[in-house]
Formats: sequence, C-alpha cells, structure tokens
Amino acid sequence: MMLSDLAQSALDLLFPPRCAGCGAAGAVFCAACQGKLVPPAEPLCQRCGRSLASSATPQRHSLLCLACSGAHGLTALTQLRAVALHEGPVREAIHALKYQGKRRVAVPLGDLLARYLQQQMAAVDVIIPVPLHSSRQRERGFNQAELLARRCAGRLGVPYLAQALVRQRATAQQVGLSGQERRANVANAFAAGRQGTAAQLAGKRILLIDDVTTTGSTLDAAAAALAPLSPASLSGLAVTRPAFD
Ligand SMILES: [Zn+2]
Ligand SMILES: [Zn+2]
Repeated sequence: MMLSDLAQSALDLLFPPRCAGCGAAGAVFCAACQGKLVPPAEPLCQRCGRSLASSATPQRHSLLCLACSGAHGLTALTQLRAVALHEGPVREAIHALKYQGKRRVAVPLGDLLARYLQQQMAAVDVIIPVPLHSSRQRERGFNQAELLARRCAGRLGVPYLAQALVRQRATAQQVGLSGQERRANVANAFAAGRQGTAAQLAGKRILLIDDVTTTGSTLDAAAAALAPLSPASLSGLAVTRPAFD
C-alpha cells in the first residue's frame, strides 16, 4: 500500500530519509551518489548494449558484440540498454530496494530510467515490468521492477501495463550460471498476462523494464512471450548491468 504524501511527509520529519548509496541524511538516493553513476563504456553493441571495449569484443569495427553477431545473442529484444554499471552507490541503492524493502528508492531510480529513455533511446508507446513469480513476490511483498517501471512511465506520461506479462514458473536465481544456462533457466518462464493482448499491444513500441540485467536472457525471455502479439518493437532497459558478463 502506498503512503499518502502527507503521511510520508510526517514520517520524514520523524525519520529523515537516508541515502541508500552512502547513508547521508536528506534523500533516499542523494545527488552526490547519482553523480557517481558509471555508464557502460562506449562503443556499445547496437543490439544488447554490452560495452564493445569489454572482453566480449568481436572483430574490430563491428557494431555488434560476439554473442549478437553469432547465434547466442538476443532473440526477441531488438535493443537492450542499462543506465549504469552495477557498482558503487547505485548497486547499494538497488540492494536496499530489493532486499531491505526500501521501496522509496524506486523513485530516484525510476527517474534515472526515464531520463535515460528520453535522452538515449527511441520513443515507446507502452512500458511493462518484468514480473516476479507469485511466490517470490509474496515473499518480498512487492516487485521492484514494477515500482521502477511505474515511476518511469508516470514520469514520461507513457501508458504502463503491470499485467501484460506473468511469470508462469519459478526459476532458479541466474547468479553463477553461464550464458547458455541462463537462457535455458528462463526459457518459457513468461507468458502474456491479462493485459498482454493483441488489442493492447499489436503495433506498439514496447519497453520492458527490470532492475538489473546481465546477459539479457531474462528480459529477452519476457519479450519472447509478447512477440507473437506483433508489437512494432520490443526493447529492454535496466538500471544496471555488470561491467563484465
Ligand atoms: Zn548518497
Ligand atoms: Zn550484443
């Protein structure tokens, strides 16, 4: 349940917010920490957004990384991007959001997504969060991707569909799995949900949002569940990604 603004202001007087990145009082993710975001080093793979300066670099002068120029790249997503590398204050902020239940951190992080989308990506018609499986969502009490996507969409005035996708089976954590194992782990994990209809999505430019992406296999599997509805495009955006994957 969302606190009213008034109740939140009263709480803020009693318990001033502290920055999830550095602990300073006054903001849930302070300006100094936001200034420490490190974007993936350019040039980026035009498709998956991996830094071509990283170990995944293929032939020189290619616009695609090794995975995307071969058979192991994204299948449904036409473009994937992350705002920053998964390190420093922004990693702390995501950790606070996901594992310490600090939902308000989704506000500045959602704003970062909105700004990135506006400045670095093509316009979209609808924003959809990557769903959690219902058992995980019950455990956590909320879906961080939903909070991020809702804030980003609201900020930009873009329609937001929370029920377009469902996670139809629980999956193991992706941490520690190889790229191939990750793809297998999330294959067919998603299905179109109540709002995932051709009437809602055919011909639309869809943006899927998650908190963190590594190889992009989760976002790509989510996109694959919507691809049969003939959207105009399917792109993905996350707050962070690891420097090397
Ligand atoms: Zn800070
Ligand atoms: Zn790529």
